[in-house]
This record gives sequence, structure tokens and C-alpha cells, in this order.
Amino acid sequence: MSIYIVLLGPPGAGKGTQAKMLSEKMGIMHISSGDIFRENLKSETELGLLTTEYMNRGELVPDDITIPMVHDRLSKPDCKKGAVLDGFPRTPAQAEALGQILEKLGGALMSAPYIEVPAEVLIDRLGGRWTCRACGTIYHEKHNTPNVNGCCDFDGTELYQREDDKPETVERRICVYLEQTSLLIEYYREQGLLYEVDGTKTIEEVAGQLEEIKKKR
Ligand code: AMP
Repeated sequence: MSIYIVLLGPPGAGKGTQAKMLSEKMGIMHISSGDIFRENLKSETELGLLTTEYMNRGELVPDDITIPMVHDRLSKPDCKKGAVLDGFPRTPAQAEALGQILEKLGGALMSAPYIEVPAEVLIDRLGGRWTCRACGTIYHEKHNTPNVNGCCDFDGTELYQREDDKPETVERRICVYLEQTSLLIEYYREQGLLYEVDGTKTIEEVAGQLEEIKKKR
């Protein structure tokens, strides 16, 4: 049976970093809805053009675009064993849809770890975040600097600041999260799938907490 994990948490909680590590450890795919949107933006597909405005404003892309896109991605052969989902679901309608998609694919949600980080820490983290253009590795100008300023440690590619990591958009993204996505915490708690993780700890410590959840399930 395929195994799926939904990583919950505000923007800047470290979902991307943790999802990448966890999926590698578990031998399943890391599916980030934000990454899929950014890839489409980069290659200027129809989907990319349709979503750019929402993303640049820090708003959610409408469910009728996002849900079929994730459905399609999860149906690909490389997701046969399952996936760690990062950034999806973000609304109650997406969470309901995910349940139906997984049922169709013959899989089940194993857990929904919630990486908790207070708002003031998020603003500091997102404001200083730099991303590799090639491999997507995330750095921080204060807390996780690359070996060579402005270059990725893995492939030497230039780092850039995501349009939506600029200060004016960061606050909007956090508000959108509080208004819409935080509702999912209760949704998954009621299903007995929610596990709280302290996201203020180091990357390795957070990864350790996620490993512990795996043992409990
Ligand atoms: P992320 O990389 O997860 O922070 O996502 C970046 C942006 O992509 C978000 O601010 C939204 O504009 C869009 N996005 C990503 N995932 C979703 C989703 N599940 N639903 C709606 N919009 C999304």
C-alpha cells in the first residue's frame, strides 16, 4: 500500500527542507505544490501564466486549478509507493479532495505532522531566505549560510530571493495561512493523524522529531 504524509505548518516552518529529507529516508516522492507552480512559471506554461499573479501576491491559487494539478502529479508512476506532501492541502476543500484522491490511488494518509513556529520567527526566516535556482536548496542569510556567498553548496548555482519571500508578500502569506490553512490542524487532529513538532529547533532536531512519529505509526 502506498504511504502518504502531509506536512503542515506556516510558510517558513521548514516544510520544504524536512519533506526533502523525510522523503529520501522513506524512499517515496517529495511533492511540493509550490515547486510545481514555480517550475511551470519558469517554463512559462499555461498553468504558470495562470498562477503567477496569485503567487506574487502571496494569495492561494484557486482550488479548481490546484486540486487537479496535484491529482495528476500523484497519479504518475514515480508516486506509486507514496509521497510526502509539502504545501498541499492548504484549504479544507483541498483536504477533502486529497482524501478522495488517495482512496482512488489505493493509498492512505499515515500522519499529518504539524511543524509549529511562532509568527515573529517566520518573518525573520522568510525575509532572509535564498533559494538555489537549479536544485531548490534553501539557505538563510543568518542561520544557514552557503559556503560561498550567493552560491549553492551542491552545484555552485546562483541563489535568488523568491518573489514571494520579499517582505511585502511575506506578511500576506502568513495572514492567508492563518485564515485558511490553519483550519487543517483541527481537521487532521479530529482524524487522529496530527502530530505536533517544535519547528523552532535545528533542522536535525526537527528531522529527529519527524522520525519519532514514523515509529509511532
Ligand atoms: P509554497 O512554496 O508552498 O510556499 O507556495 C508558494 C505559493 O504557491 C503560495 O503562496 C501559493 O500562491 C501557491 N500555492 C502552493 N501550494 C498551494 C496550494 N496547495 N493551494 C493554493 N496555492 C498554492
